[in-house]
Amino acid sequence: MKFVDAHIHLSNQEYKSCIEEVIAEAEGSKVVALVSNSMDLETGLGNLELSEKYPRFVYSALGVHPWSVQTLNEEELEKTLELIKKQKGDKAVVAVGEIGLDSKYIQIWDKQLGVFDSMLHLAEDLDLPVIIHSHGTTAQIVDMLPSYRVKKVLLHWFSDPTSSLSKALDNGYYISEGPPSVYSDGVRDVVRRVPLANLLTETDGPVHFFKPPFKGKRTTPAFIPHVVSAIAEIKNMSSEEVADQILSNFQQFFGPLLNS
Ligand SMILES: [Zn+2]
Repeated sequence: MKFVDAHIHLSNQEYKSCIEEVIAEAEGSKVVALVSNSMDLETGLGNLELSEKYPRFVYSALGVHPWSVQTLNEEELEKTLELIKKQKGDKAVVAVGEIGLDSKYIQIWDKQLGVFDSMLHLAEDLDLPVIIHSHGTTAQIVDMLPSYRVKKVLLHWFSDPTSSLSKALDNGYYISEGPPSVYSDGVRDVVRRVPLANLLTETDGPVHFFKPPFKGKRTTPAFIPHVVSAIAEIKNMSSEEVADQILSNFQQFFGPLLNS
């Protein structure tokens, strides 16, 4: 079996001192590719370095996360947009992400909307897929997206099994789920409703998970086999079938990247 992590933040400080170990552990768990997402300019540069250091294994998604909008100034936004534009055609840069809207940060709502809009335009210009954070904002985001010419959409850690989910699926969007697929009723319900052809696996590391078997452990792509077996159980399929389909979805979504 081969596994993929479509959403992690490997350039986060938490991985800095143990990156070799995390990569080795991921490879040892048969993870064959991962997409390291950005929060801002600094983590974006960090991801590009990691993609260079671990070619055809660590792929980068570049963008500004809604949480980072709070401290973002005009100059940094410009520099981030420039950085992303400069990567046009770089096979290691596979998406614009992590971008989106978060209703918890309502005090910077207009600024969030402005940054999200520039990120979506960037994805249009570069013809790249987007990886979306939609905490408390799924309905709004699913309504907004069709007005952009964005090629492919991945809604990560989606936990809103309302009409937004059916609309997202009707539009051909992908959903990625992680460790909560093992223990969260809400996420398991989403997994049940999403056709396997639209599903991807993720860890969102370094986010920590407090339920077994993840409790007390550093979050790494080595968690993915647990996620795959949870999906297999929900879908009443074998882990092999699920892993194969998710690997094929990953390539369908991000491009035929893998040498394996
Ligand atoms: Zn994330």
